[in-house]
Amino acid sequence: MPDTDQLLNFIVDRANVGIFVINREREIVLWNQFMEIHSERKADTVVGRNLFEAFPELPQKWLDRKIENLLILKNFSFTSWEQRPYLFKFAHNRPVTGGVDCMRQDCTLMPVKDGDGEVQYVCFTLFDATDTSIYQSRLEETTAQLRELSNKDGLTQLFNRRYVEEALETEFARARRYDHKLSVILTDIDFFKKVNDIHGHLAGDEVLREVSRRLTEALRGSDILGRYGGEEFLIILPETDVQGALVLAERLREIIAAEPIEADGKSLTVNISLGLTELRDTTAAYAQLIAEADVGLYQSKENGRNCTTLFRPDT
Ligand code: GH3
Ligand code: MG
Ligand code: MG
Repeated sequence: MPDTDQLLNFIVDRANVGIFVINREREIVLWNQFMEIHSERKADTVVGRNLFEAFPELPQKWLDRKIENLLILKNFSFTSWEQRPYLFKFAHNRPVTGGVDCMRQDCTLMPVKDGDGEVQYVCFTLFDATDTSIYQSRLEETTAQLRELSNKDGLTQLFNRRYVEEALETEFARARRYDHKLSVILTDIDFFKKVNDIHGHLAGDEVLREVSRRLTEALRGSDILGRYGGEEFLIILPETDVQGALVLAERLREIIAAEPIEADGKSLTVNISLGLTELRDTTAAYAQLIAEADVGLYQSKENGRNCTTLFRPDT
């Protein structure tokens, strides 16, 4: 049978975790092998010394308050690498490409009490959390990349501007090749700035979502709806002539105007203005369709808003 104390000492020393103990005076009384290796300081050079004198680089004010609280409250305490990346600045042995410069540490402080229940020592454990933090930063990078690659606008879940422009380019080429009809509607919320100014940005966002929802519901599966700008939407209508597009545009305008939108705890009356155009033999490029719809939209704003204007090439 091995001596239990010896066995425990051995385990504490060899555990792949930093373990050190201080007394009430902040003097180091135990320093295990993990701490020796990573701090490059042998136990016999630090044991008996004040923790903050031996390691002046420690965040003394913060740590001393934590120790003091533990002596009073006699409770465990914990800090994760996410709150404070590390207690001791140790190197880690991972490739530098991980983007994490030094060892991330999860840290616990455990009170060690005497027979009277008074805390005589504080035992620290340091867990190497570098791998977790590397995975986390990779995950964040990937999420950002996916968002970049995504076709969707985060707020409304509609297609984003880049996607609808690409879709229009494709539809333009297809309609040209097969001599199909193609119409485009550009629509913009009226006096939207006022919604933000009076009811706040969150209410503005809510209005954007509800307008998006109603537009989506009113369109056919083959129509393509995207958020073109802040409160501007582009609608691509393949196989649709300008008469059909005009009927649809008016229907969309009415769907928005008919029912108030609930936002900021109030019912807000929201209107949209619309401009539209169709593909003609003389249309030079897909971008011309957007430009023409925009001319129509501008006219609608000029004409008092909450209306639809068809772009006329001869005007
Ligand atoms: P008009 O009738 O002439 O279109 O007037 P308007 O106030 O709607 O036009 P303007 O272009 O001056 O204002 C658009 C506003 O839309 C300004 C901008 O702060 C707001 N906006 C753009 N994107 C968002 C968004 O994602 N959320 C919110 N809440 N507001 C946005
Ligand atoms: Mg507007
Ligand atoms: Mg606008």
